[in-house]
Amino acid sequence: MATPVQHDPAAAFARPYVVSWNLTYRCNLACEHCYLDAGPGKVKTFAFSDRSELSTEQCCRIVDQIAAFAPEAVTILTGGEPLLRRDIVDIVRYAVGKGLWVVVGTNGVKITENLARILQAEGVRGLALSLDALDPERHDAFRRVQGAWENTVEGAKILTGVGLPFIVQTTVGAHNRRELARIAAFAHDELGAKVWNVYFLVPSGRGSFVSDFSPAEYDVVLAELAGIQRTWADRMLVNAKCAPHFVRTLLSADSPAPFPKSFAGGAGGCPAGTHYLGIRPNGDVTPCPYLPLFAGNLNATGLRDIWDGSDLFNQIRQRNQLGGRCGSCELSSMCGGCRARAHGMTGDVMAEDPLCTHEPGTLRAAVDRLRPQAVEYGTAAAAALAWEPEAQERMKRIPAFVRGMVTKSVESWCAKNGVSLVTATVLDEIRAKMPTPKVFGFGAGKGAPEA
Ligand code: SF4
Ligand code: SF4
Repeated sequence: MATPVQHDPAAAFARPYVVSWNLTYRCNLACEHCYLDAGPGKVKTFAFSDRSELSTEQCCRIVDQIAAFAPEAVTILTGGEPLLRRDIVDIVRYAVGKGLWVVVGTNGVKITENLARILQAEGVRGLALSLDALDPERHDAFRRVQGAWENTVEGAKILTGVGLPFIVQTTVGAHNRRELARIAAFAHDELGAKVWNVYFLVPSGRGSFVSDFSPAEYDVVLAELAGIQRTWADRMLVNAKCAPHFVRTLLSADSPAPFPKSFAGGAGGCPAGTHYLGIRPNGDVTPCPYLPLFAGNLNATGLRDIWDGSDLFNQIRQRNQLGGRCGSCELSSMCGGCRARAHGMTGDVMAEDPLCTHEPGTLRAAVDRLRPQAVEYGTAAAAALAWEPEAQERMKRIPAFVRGMVTKSVESWCAKNGVSLVTATVLDEIRAKMPTPKVFGFGAGKGAPEA
């Protein structure tokens, strides 16, 4: 029998599950809310003063670091528009060759059938496309380029034809507030998406100058999103992004969705610095791409050293040190508030999330009902898990978009149930109980994922 692989039990937050890598500031669109201030840069602060980009060779050295430290992580190559880099295929090829799970985050405008087939042949696991409205004119106005909607929709159809999985991501705002349900239907029925991510604006980069919802409006939109999530359960995974207190909405519902279980845990909710990191085009590392605070540069300091040793990363992991309501909130371990929003609106990365209306204590009973499900991610129990090779192979067939979430769920379930060895049978058992919509099969005998 093959020897199970043992993970290091000592490390608390042992490694990131997702690495979001902004490869370039260049962009063919000029979105008014861009957190990276890509394209025609307008933000003059220190955080955006170095707009240099790594060479191909430097990118390969960073790939080496990711492959050595976090080989299971989903690596999102994005921008700006990453497809504008002439060496994008070289970087993809090198990263895939090193065993990384590569996803390309693009506005979709430059997708052609030829390019899609090249990316597929090079081993890209999927793409993320942005679609902000059903009306082409409104989408184009938001993205500031005429014809962007047509190109993105065409790009999605090309990807479907080629068989390359993709998610649709929508930034919610006044421009599309009234049509979220219809965008969800369009993403699934017309474009064939299996995942629809709805992004809430974070005051970062050019997004600092775009008005967001009021806290009360935010709550209304999150409640609507919870309804859309229920509508599409079993067909499409619907996520709220940059809105970790979505868990509060779910827990407050009359008939709570099973999803809160997947939020339960010591560092659920905002994953910045606990399961997630960002890399800027010049190699600077941030806990999250939306948070312009830097923990080091990968040309000078190793990824592992930054992850383990940076004061910033260690600070942001201390949920019990959060300020204001987040610090005394019964939902802190499964929410934590958006750290980038706290920083963008108050200047203090540990401040309460100003757009949350929750009064701490009012959901204590609901949290207590969930508590048996909860497990502290990153404890020795979770980090000490061993994986049988067959189980590892099974995990490799999970679509990149949900891989991090599934890994967290498996760790959580095993810790809660006292399981120290992940086998294929254990995965089957977890699969049968997971709240995740059953659009991503990884059960026994299913072969390739359904997505
Ligand atoms: S107070 Fe903070 S931790 Fe509590 S639900 Fe709101 S954002 Fe989340
Ligand atoms: S700080 Fe957390 S919740 Fe906010 S955008 Fe980053 S990862 Fe998302």
